[in-house]
Amino acid sequence: MRIALDLDGVLANYVKSFATFLHNKTKLIGPNWEPTEWHFDVPGLSRTQVSKFRKEMQQEEDFWLHISPYPQSLQAMQDFLRLHPEHDVMYLTARPYNEKNSTIAQTNMWLTKHHIQNARTTLVIVEDHTHKAAVLRATGTVYFVDDRVATVLETHKVESCKSYLLTRPWNFDGIMENDHINTVGTLEDFFDKVLHG
Ligand SMILES: [Mg+2]
Repeated sequence: MRIALDLDGVLANYVKSFATFLHNKTKLIGPNWEPTEWHFDVPGLSRTQVSKFRKEMQQEEDFWLHISPYPQSLQAMQDFLRLHPEHDVMYLTARPYNEKNSTIAQTNMWLTKHHIQNARTTLVIVEDHTHKAAVLRATGTVYFVDDRVATVLETHKVESCKSYLLTRPWNFDGIMENDHINTVGTLEDFFDKVLHG
């Protein structure tokens, strides 16, 4: 069986990196601050300013190489790969192109560094999150998990794939508004769905 997982917000703690970056740049939030909605609405910053900071951070050399993993998710991923060699895994992300150091290279090195890359894993980077549904369909992927409501609403339309939203503080609103979305609380829960339906 083929399964796919988003990276940022699922395995990689993008929010921690961004909160630290904004803390260092503006001192408007603490480094452990977490948004409660998707757009990272920081008090005192417009969405345009947030977006500008986001782009600046993502273009730092080796940004994707140094991002922290979620320890619990990482453990679950390592366990799954070790215990279930019969399944193929695709990491499916919309991380942007990095001018200084290839995003693909950085991400591959990150996956290797954290021991979640092997002969059965594939990395696919799409230009935009809206392309993920087509990739799942084209590759015959059967299970998928992501932390973005808009993405899961799209991938939910791929009949051959069961899509799950990993609940995070920044997607609670979206879950309330779209109560037909399938959710999982942890990556262990997702793998439990993969293995036991
Ligand atoms: Mg994500």
